[in-house]
Amino acid sequence: MNLTARHWLGLTDEHIQPIDDIHGLEKATKHAFLAMQDAAHADNIDLQLVSSFRDFKKQLSIWQRKWIGELPLYSIENELINGAKLDDLAKIHAIMSWSAMPGGSRHHWGTDFDVFDRDSSKRSKKPFQLISQEYQPGGPCYELNCWLNERASEFGFIRPYASYNGGVAPEAWHLSYEPVSSQIVNSLDIVALHQQIEKTEIGGKATLLRHLEALFKRYTLNGGAA
Ligand SMILES: [Zn+2]
Repeated sequence: MNLTARHWLGLTDEHIQPIDDIHGLEKATKHAFLAMQDAAHADNIDLQLVSSFRDFKKQLSIWQRKWIGELPLYSIENELINGAKLDDLAKIHAIMSWSAMPGGSRHHWGTDFDVFDRDSSKRSKKPFQLISQEYQPGGPCYELNCWLNERASEFGFIRPYASYNGGVAPEAWHLSYEPVSSQIVNSLDIVALHQQIEKTEIGGKATLLRHLEALFKRYTLNGGAA
């Protein structure tokens, strides 16, 4: 399928195929994911989706809840931040360290998703939180993390947020199907995103629009704080 701005902005789900009741991925990504999941199972790793396709509306609702303080804001070091004390731009940076702007999430693409080791997390008897420690030595997803380091590329997957470049906090759990997502990266156009944000009711809109291109490069593309 030829992916257009409507797809990568998350305005449609017509490029998404269901995997189960909750999750869906773009067709080629889905096949590669299922093959990788089988290979992981053969190595006794219960590789499961935490999060897959998310549309613009869902991403907007996460943004808004963080903007008004209904959901907490965290620093890169995972410390709670008081959003009420921040100016608009600082608040935008705080949100975007952990959550993309609507229209600027790789989860819109259907090529990107988050994974965890379900069995191992259950065995750990602690509620799963999707935090870095869980993927580090001693954590329930450490073995999965090591397995992905060795094997994910065989199936076409890369980790765009593996290291911190001054943008998104490191996300060992976020995978992207490179054969399709690299095509999307090449077709992204800031004008379409600008138009979409302009007609959206969103907290921090004026500031967001003023800094849109820099924010998009720094966070969505994880290009670092240039
Ligand atoms: Zn993710």
